[in-house]
Amino acid sequence: MSEVFKGSFTQQEPIPEAGIEAALAVLRHGRLHRYNTAPGELSETALLEQEFAASVGARYCVAVASGGYAMGTALRALGVKPGDKVLSNAFTLAPVPGAIAAVGAEPVFVGVTEDLTIDLEDLAEKIGAARVLLLSHMRGHICDMNRLMEICDGAGVQVVEDCAHTMGAAWNGVPSGRFGAVGCYSCQTYKHVNAGEGGFLVTDDAEIAARAVMMSGSYMLYERHLAAPPPEVFETIRYETPNISGRMDNLRAAILRPQVADLEAQCTRWNARYKRLEDGIRGTPGLTVIERPDEERIVGSSIQFLLLDWSTDAVQEVVTRCARRGVELKWFGASEPLGFTSRYDSWRYARSEPMPKTDRILAGIVDMRVPLTFSLEDCDMVARIVRAETGAVYQNAA
Ligand SMILES: *Cc1c(COP(=O)(O)O)cnc(C)c1O
Repeated sequence: MSEVFKGSFTQQEPIPEAGIEAALAVLRHGRLHRYNTAPGELSETALLEQEFAASVGARYCVAVASGGYAMGTALRALGVKPGDKVLSNAFTLAPVPGAIAAVGAEPVFVGVTEDLTIDLEDLAEKIGAARVLLLSHMRGHICDMNRLMEICDGAGVQVVEDCAHTMGAAWNGVPSGRFGAVGCYSCQTYKHVNAGEGGFLVTDDAEIAARAVMMSGSYMLYERHLAAPPPEVFETIRYETPNISGRMDNLRAAILRPQVADLEAQCTRWNARYKRLEDGIRGTPGLTVIERPDEERIVGSSIQFLLLDWSTDAVQEVVTRCARRGVELKWFGASEPLGFTSRYDSWRYARSEPMPKTDRILAGIVDMRVPLTFSLEDCDMVARIVRAETGAVYQNAA
């Protein structure tokens, strides 16, 4: 009898006790709105911003309602206007082109390589098309950031980093989100810290930060921030910037502060699981492991592999057979978008030229969550199942 995995791919760990205690304290005093503070009190949200900014070495941080909101705010703060074009990844998740469309701008999609990072040759070719790149470190894969910044700086293109999957990750020792003008993060349940919903925007640019604070809905209470620029930066900006309410509240901030403090340790635990999975599937015939460069400090909260140039029926067969044994794989090559997977050609509001090289890779990307509720032995079992089922389908097809 072949083994069946019983774990849940969508079950996260509970909120740390310190977060539960802090959340209860907020519920008990009732001051949930970030600017609702007792005399002399520093709000949980302001403290969280200060702590997150310090953790990535950023001058400024604004906590907001979601990662998608952070990206939209970043684009607006950089002056992206309706009708503008914004470069972005063809391989990413729906909130990324959605953030571009939300400001009335138009995505120009850049291809993906076999390393699952943005295709820098394609980027160099298209760089003249826009003033801003919304770079998604999709599934935590970080491209050669020094080369990317060279291309963008050379063309005067500003970079916004979507770090939804790279909170805690780094390239050459520099935290993800600190290369571009703005870094955006998500605190949604399936990311690296869990408040249900939430996001951060970080920057070293005082004007961008001031605009983001105003947009997030600070009214004229920006002096209550601990990671915002000084009041003089707001002097004109406060009259010119619309309020597009998207604040974080003190309840979420209370839940998040202990998680931000603990992020490093959690990343180590994710990477231990990732390594067991990676070791377990490496060498499976027909399956390509995504090799991670030495410059990259990863956070292995999900793992991808390629079934490159397989027929769609064969990949579907792998997905079905693994599902029967309790292993939930997601496939970016399916003809219809399902669950969280969709592709540049699913976003019909944003037309794109066909990208055959990218299509070939998307058709082969298989993706799996790695929740921290899995033990290392769970990871070994999941890898054995993937290996056995992929191997069997490959053999039959050969
Ligand atoms: C989750 C996610 C976001 C934004 O997340 P929100 O759900 O808006 O917080 C952005 N980019 C990617 C790649 C994501 O997976």
